[in-house]
Amino acid sequence: MNRKKIIAGNWKMNTTIEDGIQLATSLATRYESSEPLMILIPPFTHLMTIKGVLSGSTLALGAQNCHQETKGAYTGEISATMLSNCGIPYVILGHSERRQYFMETDSLLSKKVVAALHHKLIPIFCVGESLDIRNQDNQNDFVRGQLQEGLFHLSPEDFSKIIIAYEPIWAIGTGVTASPQQAQEMHEFIRSQIRDQYGDTIAEEIRILYGGSVKGSNAKEIFAGADVDGALVGGASLDADDFLKIAGGFN
Ligand code: PEP
Repeated sequence: MNRKKIIAGNWKMNTTIEDGIQLATSLATRYESSEPLMILIPPFTHLMTIKGVLSGSTLALGAQNCHQETKGAYTGEISATMLSNCGIPYVILGHSERRQYFMETDSLLSKKVVAALHHKLIPIFCVGESLDIRNQDNQNDFVRGQLQEGLFHLSPEDFSKIIIAYEPIWAIGTGVTASPQQAQEMHEFIRSQIRDQYGDTIAEEIRILYGGSVKGSNAKEIFAGADVDGALVGGASLDADDFLKIAGGFN
């Protein structure tokens, strides 16, 4: 199956607006391809400015989170409606840092996913196990649980719009990457769970990205896995040269 590849750069809570403009300008002028699709995911404060920088380029834009409600007294929050109204097509949901520091549960995330889809956003839904769980060899059960609670309540039509990111927590921002074999094994497992739930066609269509210390130097070997459809990149997405090298990892 020829799934369109994606590399998404999660800037997290990094960059001044000047840094962000410089980074986005450099990427937009140097990256002209539409495959892999390059998605930049800056902080909320930068979204509209970066949208202007990316206009006319092949790059897409995403947000790092959204709230499950449409509007109301939720000081400091941003709704899916607001993102959609600003013309932002993608949103990360369930990043491990949101799960860990902001106590986001699969039950909450299942509501965020519905809100995002309802407002025509495409969720990049993150799953992944801690080191303890991996050491106990429980990663498959754990990730299966995240998929079941967070996503498998969706109708086939809605589920087919989702992008999944497998991000083992022990590999995020640590410099330790899952081996290409570990990544492929988990991606294959995730696809098998989707197949059981939604059937062959949807399982073959869904993009599953790998995230966790992806760099220009290791991207190619990770992308060699048959079920690896790209990467969600943190640290290395802040460096235009390295991010472009990651994008070149499919060649
Ligand atoms: C991430 O935050 O999604 C991530 C994968 O970070 P890093 O690439 O820095 O490990």
